[in-house]
Amino acid sequence: MDAAAVRRRNLSAVLELVHLRRGVTRADLTRALGLNRSTIGDLVAVLAEHGWVDERDDAPRAGVGRPSPRVVPRDARLVAAINPEVDVIDVALVSLGGELVARRRVPLSEPPSVDRAIELITATVRDLAATQPESEVVAAGVAVPGLVRHDDGHVRLAPRLGWREQPLAAPLAAALGVPVAAANDAHLGSRAEQAFGAGIGARTMLYLNGGPSGIGGGLVVDGRPMDGAAGYAGELGHASVDPNGPLCACGATGCLEALVPRAALAAAVGLEHPDDDTLESALLTAIVAENDDGPVHEEVARQLRWLAIALRGAVNLLNPERIVLGGHLAALWRAADRDQRASLLAQALPVNAADATIEVAALGSQRLLVGAAELAWDGLIADPLGAETTDAASAVGVSA
Ligand SMILES: [Zn+2]
Repeated sequence: MDAAAVRRRNLSAVLELVHLRRGVTRADLTRALGLNRSTIGDLVAVLAEHGWVDERDDAPRAGVGRPSPRVVPRDARLVAAINPEVDVIDVALVSLGGELVARRRVPLSEPPSVDRAIELITATVRDLAATQPESEVVAAGVAVPGLVRHDDGHVRLAPRLGWREQPLAAPLAAALGVPVAAANDAHLGSRAEQAFGAGIGARTMLYLNGGPSGIGGGLVVDGRPMDGAAGYAGELGHASVDPNGPLCACGATGCLEALVPRAALAAAVGLEHPDDDTLESALLTAIVAENDDGPVHEEVARQLRWLAIALRGAVNLLNPERIVLGGHLAALWRAADRDQRASLLAQALPVNAADATIEVAALGSQRLLVGAAELAWDGLIADPLGAETTDAASAVGVSA
């Protein structure tokens, strides 16, 4: 590897740690990366000079001597994170370190076409960018409830949005004027939880995302996201749990997502298009207020029984150490009693389930946007000085 490639790799490694830990001391960087103090000092200075980080002397003093300065992300650059759904388009600007600095949910009366979605996304990103005049939006990531080819962000199939074989990343990049990447929403929820949430440190993880468009999955194997050959792995929502069950949007019968729909849970508590937080609090309130044989208890128990069958297959296949539930599956878990929780892994082979814990997504309703932002940051963190070619003229215009 030549000297320039080594330097690029080291700059990337420093920036990635600052991002994932939302700030880190020089001493920790030296330890984590195995580089000497003067090399770390030089790399941090270069990143600061190019607008990526700041140094602060606010680290707690450890022992005698000067405290090690803390290297923190700078908000000069932001990425746009987008999650188009059947009933809402959720858009946020996200800083390095995965913090949402601005967010807007655009309600929809019907599922949008790709063209309509691009129009709404472009207008919303420009509006949000105008609220952050000190920063520039330099890239965007889209979390799509469907199958997305990871090479070029082309949507193969998003059944409930009605999108089939539609380019998305390329036309959105043309509209926004910045690089755009797109991927499956559950894969990105999994990435977000692995980076900043309930999946930190997990080597083998199954993430299940319950959303208005159905149930998706993300896998972490050997500490890395497992996308499959072209980006479509983890579709546990289409695991067959009842051969005699209802028809699914995918064309098969008795899929998990056809039997465990978010809409049925929302209907049980009298809501139509709630966001995740509203659904969860309504469900918990109803469970407390209702008798054990009431309709809300019944729907929760019914959905948990189907989920346990799907987890039997997944746990036997993967032998996970962590299972993370997001969206309405997180609400379902919170509404479950102790016996119901235990029953979720009871059908798997005991040795395969022995190391598995079930947790709810720690990032809550932000998880898909944080994951979409991770996708947008990828290219920039891989080559921080490559961002120099993204000058103000090519950032999202606020006056256009
Ligand atoms: Zn299906």
